[in-house]
Amino acid sequence: MSTSLSTEKSKGLPVIKISRTVIQFLSFFLVNYAILEFIFKTDFSAIQDFLRVLPFLHSADSAWTAGAGLLEYVFHTIIDGKVPYLFLGLIGAFGLFTGRIFCGWMCPTGFIQDLLAGIANENNRFSLNTDRALKKVKGFVLVVLFVLLIPLGYYYTNNPKNYSDYSKALGLFAINPVGPFSFSEFFFVTFPDIIQSIVDNAAVDQLFTPENRVRTIIFFVYLIILGFSIYYPRFYCKYLCPYGAAIKQVSKYSFLKLKRLPTRCPGRKECGICEQVCPMQVRILDEGFDGFTGNGECILCLECMEHCPHDAIKFAKPF
Ligand code: SF4
Ligand code: SF4
Repeated sequence: MSTSLSTEKSKGLPVIKISRTVIQFLSFFLVNYAILEFIFKTDFSAIQDFLRVLPFLHSADSAWTAGAGLLEYVFHTIIDGKVPYLFLGLIGAFGLFTGRIFCGWMCPTGFIQDLLAGIANENNRFSLNTDRALKKVKGFVLVVLFVLLIPLGYYYTNNPKNYSDYSKALGLFAINPVGPFSFSEFFFVTFPDIIQSIVDNAAVDQLFTPENRVRTIIFFVYLIILGFSIYYPRFYCKYLCPYGAAIKQVSKYSFLKLKRLPTRCPGRKECGICEQVCPMQVRILDEGFDGFTGNGECILCLECMEHCPHDAIKFAKPF
């Protein structure tokens, strides 16, 4: 099913959309200061320690890259044989108090997908059942990560021999578990490094050195996923992002959510624009009137609110 996103209600400038794009643009560079270093050939190492405390991308732990997100901190803590109370608590607090607003307004990967979706300016959607099934994939990825890494942490503290064997079997994955699953790391840290080495050595075969080969393959897989997001907005967020899978478990119960006013909304048959423009394919009109999060899938982009011709979508009271 395809829907043109040009179903604007005629009430002037799309202020929310413009504000969100500006914030996404600024966040893109704040979160990925490595990009600024790359573009401007600058060294921000003096402020690196400050940036590393931001719970976004920058971590000294990563062997493949300098990137890390909150979820990566969770996994690195598990690998160290500790329970990641702090980072799980942070994810929980973010989800509870802000829902998935980071995904909608700040995540650089989300921003790129939004820009790409603007090329086709249509919202293709999978059938309800396919969408439901695909939305489980990111959760499956997350569970696999936990299942593989919890024994590693256990062996680390309790059985050095098994730890050594198991970490060897997991290879690079044991060192940087989220790396291959982190779209951001590949686009904003790893691949610029590879490009830099191509430029420095004036040799395209840098893409295929033993060190870079797997990274290059993963990069092209992500490029294909980006291609999907031109026609299926937020394809990666909806179906594949492990951070999305984690935060959605909490944001289902978020204090920050939207609601639909039954007195203003004529329903799906007479209108249904909100669902047509929702990039996360939330079934807004099947949700309760007190507040909805689309089972934690709503990224609070507010497209539905901005496009609703009857001003029927508002923020819900937190309690
Ligand atoms: S919430 Fe708004 S856009 Fe959605 S069906 Fe109701 S009136 Fe239409
Ligand atoms: S329900 Fe509304 S705010 Fe939430 S993702 Fe969909 S369009 Fe955005």
